[in-house]
Amino acid sequence: MGDPLNLNWLIPAKERETIEHSVFPLANAIPGIRFFLDNMKSMHGDSNKEFIREILAKSLDLHVLNLKEVSALIYLHDREIWEEVFDTANRIKEKVYGKRVVLFAPLYISNECMNDCLYCGFRSGNRDARRKSLTVDEVLQEAEFLSGKGYRRLLLVASEHAKHTGIDYLEKIIEAIYKRTDIRILHANTAPMSVDEFKRLKASGIGVYQCFQETYHIPSYRYLHQTGTKADYASRLNVMDRAIEAGFEDVGMGVLLGLYDWRWEVGALIAHSRRLISKYGFGPHTLSVPRLQPAEGSKVNVDTYRVSDEDLKKIVAIYRLALPYVGVVVSTRERSGLRDELLSMGASQISAGSRTSPWGYIEKGDTEQFEIGDNRSLEDIVRNIAEMGMIPSLCTACYREGRSGEQFRKLAQNEHMKKLCHENALLSLKEYIEDCCSEDVKEDLEKRLKEEIAKSSNGLTDKMKLVEQGKRDIHS
Ligand code: SAM
Ligand code: SF4
Repeated sequence: MGDPLNLNWLIPAKERETIEHSVFPLANAIPGIRFFLDNMKSMHGDSNKEFIREILAKSLDLHVLNLKEVSALIYLHDREIWEEVFDTANRIKEKVYGKRVVLFAPLYISNECMNDCLYCGFRSGNRDARRKSLTVDEVLQEAEFLSGKGYRRLLLVASEHAKHTGIDYLEKIIEAIYKRTDIRILHANTAPMSVDEFKRLKASGIGVYQCFQETYHIPSYRYLHQTGTKADYASRLNVMDRAIEAGFEDVGMGVLLGLYDWRWEVGALIAHSRRLISKYGFGPHTLSVPRLQPAEGSKVNVDTYRVSDEDLKKIVAIYRLALPYVGVVVSTRERSGLRDELLSMGASQISAGSRTSPWGYIEKGDTEQFEIGDNRSLEDIVRNIAEMGMIPSLCTACYREGRSGEQFRKLAQNEHMKKLCHENALLSLKEYIEDCCSEDVKEDLEKRLKEEIAKSSNGLTDKMKLVEQGKRDIHS
């Protein structure tokens, strides 16, 4: 893995050579990247429209951008060109995934935490927090509740506590959910683990392992995480290497936007992703855009590094352009109108109807991790996405078929993913209509489905009939 504090790897060697002060002293590596970004700022002001258009064409051809190109986007101010960037981001998303929008819900299993991340409602220093760790039976009740609403994909979210959220417990709840509910795939946003623990997590059937660096900026990281295992910046930085070493091909990454200058964070996250690609042949499966929210007991002023709505749109588009195949995930931290807009700027997955406290679906009451901006139900969101001309998808086919990592990238590159996603999304929507949605929305969704089926192959009509006859989990 090399020395994690030697962040030279954040800029691939080839690109480093093109920068004047290319030697980043070990302890000074972060200012090195800052120099890189600042340097790009002066090199690529708004005047260089031609360069931006070259970048757009490269992304549209589904090539990963280099850091010079990424920083040109980060420092772009021209509003007119931004409209072209947003439009291109949407076209790339449709080229890779078609019009489908993947839906999922988080399932919080514990808020008992040994860390003290100053921005989080679950932090150990929040003495007023009402703590709860779900028993296996309670986890099952929450999972059953969610599968009854139509969810087939859940993200298990946990605080960090040796006793309450360790791998032994995770294995038990994952096994129970797969055995006893209709949930078909579980992803996990849980505390970083050792390689051996990650192997067990993978073997238990987790699809994507997700973990956010929070901030790449070392001084901010140290201030925000002063105690507990999370205080170790290097260990956090290497978490994806450990997960990949353990066999995870699908990893989800992100920074918590609002802890430091977003330009810096976005550049560093993309540099980190590029490093994974050059080392392992594949990068992150998803990039999330969590934006800092007020939280009970938080010690962080959300205004200090606030990321505006306009900047959040830019970040979503930059992720889409920089890593064209990546799933860009927007959570219910954001309000509904903005989430709708982000869906036409490159976002491809959203959580829906979320609660951010353990036991939050069955009974509200225990401490939430942060405030939620979009309180619509899954059904409202499904209907809304369909009305926008997109296809709400509860599909889990890639995990059933073992499509991950490099294989997924190749399928996406040839635009095969788009076809698979389209059909599978429609089949999952049909299942949803048959099993879960209320009479109020059934008619509208059936109408939307018919429009899409009319444009599709006969094979799809046959598969739809199978769903009508009661067959489930039909996919390609
Ligand atoms: N406890 C594990 C960890 O910290 O990696 C995983 C789960 S943690 C509950 C999931 C993520 O929530 C964190 O990585 C952090 O980015 C995000 N988060 C924490 N406090 C937040 C806040 N006030 N607003 C928005 N997101 C927050
Ligand atoms: Fe615990 Fe994660 Fe919250 Fe930090 S972000 S206090 S580790 S739950």
